[in-house]
Amino acid sequence: MEYEGRLARLQDHLASTDVDALLVSHLPNVRYLCGFTGSAGALLVSGRKAVFFTDGRYTAQAREEVRGARIVIARQPPVTMAAEWLKSNRKKSGARVVGFDSQHLSVAEHSQLAEILRPNVRLRKAPPVVERARMMKDADEIRSLRAAIRLGESLFAVASEAIRPGVAETKVAAEMEYAARRAGAEGMSFDTIIASGVRSALPHGRASTAQIPANGFVVCDFGIILAGYCSDMTRTVHVGKPSEQARGMYAAVREAQEAAINAVRPGVPAGEIDLAARRVLARQGFGRYFTHSTGHGVGLEIHEMPRIAARQTERLVEGMVITIEPGVYVSNIGGVRIEDMVLVTNTGCEVLTETSKELLQI
Ligand code: ZN
Ligand code: ZN
Repeated sequence: MEYEGRLARLQDHLASTDVDALLVSHLPNVRYLCGFTGSAGALLVSGRKAVFFTDGRYTAQAREEVRGARIVIARQPPVTMAAEWLKSNRKKSGARVVGFDSQHLSVAEHSQLAEILRPNVRLRKAPPVVERARMMKDADEIRSLRAAIRLGESLFAVASEAIRPGVAETKVAAEMEYAARRAGAEGMSFDTIIASGVRSALPHGRASTAQIPANGFVVCDFGIILAGYCSDMTRTVHVGKPSEQARGMYAAVREAQEAAINAVRPGVPAGEIDLAARRVLARQGFGRYFTHSTGHGVGLEIHEMPRIAARQTERLVEGMVITIEPGVYVSNIGGVRIEDMVLVTNTGCEVLTETSKELLQI
């Protein structure tokens, strides 16, 4: 990964703002900028330098992983240590205004930092500059995402084998998660969703002890983490013979998902992708059953910018990797969701998830 370039771009950006230094405390942002993968770390980036703080557990790991930043091993929490360092190096660093990430710093941490830095250094809420940089994936990241997607996709065959009437949803999830770890996944991107029968109408129905019924949909939404990067996909299968109504529901979601994919290209506002899916479902009478947004960015985190939702004005840019996942959920009947990951290319998009979207009957 090209850490030095990422840090340099952030430093160039800081030079054009009135923030002298940025305290990066959200671990995926720390990882993105300097490569550290541990669970305790903070990165202080100023116009001229970057200093990384971690604790004694990570001395060896930090030396091995961290690129482009000086390493300070702290006896206190990394964020506190960063503030203490700023205080004692204030003259040398020239920092008077320090940006912090309001989305990820607790009120208690903020008060403590303000206390340490008072009265010479001020804290200011910083816009999500690192998150914005992370929206566009570079070649290394796209390679990592492709590898994560391939591994993630291989679990669908495991799910299709495990899904049988009378089997608990948790057992299906367990088989998938076991296969994921055996294939080298670091973990799952989120709690595996296996939602069967009437539970398939719950958009976030995590696998429960409920048994798969003899007839109905099973929504399978799952992803793995490989080399830090997340995969995310959904396929909905049908146990037993689907009714006309079930077939209609599935066809509508598939058409909506394909319409949204066809709308993906650089320059298009995210809200229009959402609208493309919503229009198809509304036309087929399912509009009010599509109760969530159409998609989200994916990378080091499972949910990243941009949001693919109604009225979002963020324009798509080449290199973004987003999900397209419309769904229809009818209470006491069931639900369908189909989700792929797509890469925005210079002319349109490439669908990275290759698994068939034909309705699979089990
Ligand atoms: Zn998903
Ligand atoms: Zn998703």
